[in-house]
Amino acid sequence: MGSYELEEERILSWLKSRRATRVLIQAPDGIKPYLRDLCEVLAAAGIEAIVSGSHAWGGCDVAVREAVLVGADAVVHIGHHGPVRFRPPGNLLFIEGRAGVSIHGVVEIAAEKLVEKGVENVALLTTIQHLHELRHAKSLLSEHGINVFLARSSKPYMREGLITGCDVEAAKALESKVEAFLVVSGGVFHALGVGLITRKTVFAADPYTNRVLDIERNVRRVIAVRLNHLADALDAREALIVASTKPGQFSATRIRRVKAFLSSRGIKCKVAVFGDLDRGVLENLGSFDVYVNAACPRLAVDDYHIFPGPVINPGELRYLDEGLENYDPASALQW
Ligand code: SF4
Repeated sequence: MGSYELEEERILSWLKSRRATRVLIQAPDGIKPYLRDLCEVLAAAGIEAIVSGSHAWGGCDVAVREAVLVGADAVVHIGHHGPVRFRPPGNLLFIEGRAGVSIHGVVEIAAEKLVEKGVENVALLTTIQHLHELRHAKSLLSEHGINVFLARSSKPYMREGLITGCDVEAAKALESKVEAFLVVSGGVFHALGVGLITRKTVFAADPYTNRVLDIERNVRRVIAVRLNHLADALDAREALIVASTKPGQFSATRIRRVKAFLSSRGIKCKVAVFGDLDRGVLENLGSFDVYVNAACPRLAVDDYHIFPGPVINPGELRYLDEGLENYDPASALQW
């Protein structure tokens, strides 16, 4: 799987500048096994490093409360680009966690595929782990005669070419200019987000496996599931609004909006708040006709099986009124 650049020196000097003596280190599960050396470097400098064993799903999911609980002076969050939908405290440092794997090989394969398919204009997108190689990927594609387009989300802390699981604004901005999208990242998770907002071809280029995949079938599968769940939700009488305690996912305004919509349709609803969701914690609350997911929108897209009944996202509520004929999959990412 390769290693990650953890920028030990930068972390150390930032912590020293804050005179921190105890730090909470947070990283996604895939990066956690690489944290040992960092902890040792910090320990050698007299800084106690406590690793958060909790999941760290995104820049929305920073363990600020955990840090207070363990008495940490600072939080180092590795693996995401920056805070998502919350105001970051001053004692928080984001480290990208650049992947040690090169994107060169997979972009060469992608370039050949794009040329073979007659694609002349492509939108290039990637995740924070590979963003430092964006220019290199662009010039490789250009060498094959492909026009490469880049854009940037308007959200704070986002950078050119960068997408996250719920922010594909950079892709949307380029839709009219290109015939296809190329998403360089591990797996198809990020490419799938792009696939939901466009009818154009989306290729997922995975630098860990050197595979390039047209994700059309994956997108069609997601749309089929979304329509299924919405159809099952049409006659719902009782709903559970599922909220999250993660700082960038909890929104009282969103919950109020969802509640008001459900009440206007005569649907009784309860609100429950969770840290990490799984089927067990949802089943503990009994069964509901529909679950309205006010937490990370990707839960309803990728992890719908954890919900004991049909799940819909706030952006999809309107189809309960409008019917499903004009369903737009982009609404699955809208909060
Ligand atoms: S809300 Fe979900 S997709 Fe968006 S940053 Fe958080 S974990 Fe990622």
